[in-house]
Amino acid sequence: MVSRAVMQQASDYSSQASSSSIADASDFSADMMIEAAWGQLRERLRDRLGETAYRRWIEPVDGKISKDESGQAILTMAVPTRFMRDWIEAHYGDVIRMLWVQVVKKGDVLFVVNSPLAGGIQDQAMAGSSDRAYEAASMPKMEPVAPAAFPSQVSSLASDEAPLDPRFTFENFVVGKPNELAYAAARRVADTETPTFNPLFLYGGSGLGKTHLMHAIAWQIRRNFPNRRVIYMSAEKFMYQFVRALRFKDTVSFKDQFRSVDVLMIDDVQFIGGKDTTQEEFFHTFNALVDRNRQVIVSADKSPQDLDRVEERLRSRLGWGLVADLHPANYELRLGILQAKASKMGCAVPDKVIEFLGHKITSNVRELEGALNRIIAHSQLVGRTISLEMTQEVLADVLRSSERRITIDEIQKKVAEHYNIRVADMHSARRARAVARPRQVAMYLAKQLTPRSLPEIGRKFGGRDHTTVIHAVRKIEELSAYDPTFREDVDLLRRLLQG
Ligand code: ADP
Ligand code: MG
Repeated sequence: MVSRAVMQQASDYSSQASSSSIADASDFSADMMIEAAWGQLRERLRDRLGETAYRRWIEPVDGKISKDESGQAILTMAVPTRFMRDWIEAHYGDVIRMLWVQVVKKGDVLFVVNSPLAGGIQDQAMAGSSDRAYEAASMPKMEPVAPAAFPSQVSSLASDEAPLDPRFTFENFVVGKPNELAYAAARRVADTETPTFNPLFLYGGSGLGKTHLMHAIAWQIRRNFPNRRVIYMSAEKFMYQFVRALRFKDTVSFKDQFRSVDVLMIDDVQFIGGKDTTQEEFFHTFNALVDRNRQVIVSADKSPQDLDRVEERLRSRLGWGLVADLHPANYELRLGILQAKASKMGCAVPDKVIEFLGHKITSNVRELEGALNRIIAHSQLVGRTISLEMTQEVLADVLRSSERRITIDEIQKKVAEHYNIRVADMHSARRARAVARPRQVAMYLAKQLTPRSLPEIGRKFGGRDHTTVIHAVRKIEELSAYDPTFREDVDLLRRLLQG
């Protein structure tokens, strides 16, 4: 498991990465960055491949990083067995290389077998037959899958489509206020043969169901119109395919294959940014399909206008159809999702536990699901009934990190920023509505998000009395109750602070 600290470090690195690359950083910080880069790569892979595939294929990998003479960061991914090495390279090799280059700017990836019998990393050629014995001993939990069961993904484009996850169907998608528009749009696209809106642009933060909806569309089209040709692919894969076609001077068939589809879905287009030629190609493919009235569906973590590394004309083109956003799940939807998943798994999870999880795990649906899976797996493995105490115990690490200490100073700063007032006004005696209301919001959030007592909070707000704080809390609750816009505003601030 990647700890929060590493993730934080990794994302810090990512913000630096745009301005400086590893090659020109000083040696000391370069080493640290490189370490962070490995963490960052794993985070991206977890996001890309999903929790299950990530756990099975990436978690056991040992990553070592070195620099070659030309300053390239060489990532050596050592895995316990030859079978795993081949499988990872065949299925995820492209995506890993792609992401690695995004993270470190200049780099390459090697896949090797790490035989514990010989100690340390060594090449498969040297590992000899010993890895086979180790394979049998070390992988009892892995489903026995013959390599031949996985068609080679290298030969033709059609087989390069990502496989569809059988769990990601409309039936398994729980609908609530935060995602109803995206859901309705996805259904419409799947159920009609002529596009009503083209493209359909789905956007929202990580783990909120974009990929799920896209797969659901693909499943549904397969059911409704078995003859329609659907391609679902990540934007990275698209880019990689294109770059490879360029290298092999085979862009004509690349184009033809894409342009002959009825429905093209590209997931996570925020990653398409940067490379001019790929953007250009994407733009043309996109136009060719839309002009011929073929459905295009695109997802991203931002709205079209906010895709900062994407060219202006592509950005505006992406916004022409329907832009539907997925909001973070509210408490109600979180409960709905937990209930649906628990009953799907045939598991009796007490209401108390469901409510507890719904309250505590607010980041995204992926985490929520992960938490539920963990307690169910735990109860099945050790034969313990699921209870609140057991949940708190099993999820101790998750809960700790979601209970990150938020300080009153942070709250004051964020709220002031949000309402565009000075932080000093949090302490001042000014009573004008424009500053008094934000101050009340900050007091309310301080009460909600910190363990501070009312008098302590009062003191932090320019030495006010605790009754002022009580008044503020009541006022905000009251306003939230009858003004949904205001409530959303406060919710947004809460999420920002908890994020
Ligand atoms: P994204 O692509 O937006 O990062 P995913 O589609 O991969 O997110 O969703 C993350 C996980 O959460 C998946 O396992 C998905 O099935 C689940 N999920 C997200 N939203 C819902 C929902 N509304 N109902 C049921 N499951 C959901
Ligand atoms: Mg996704």
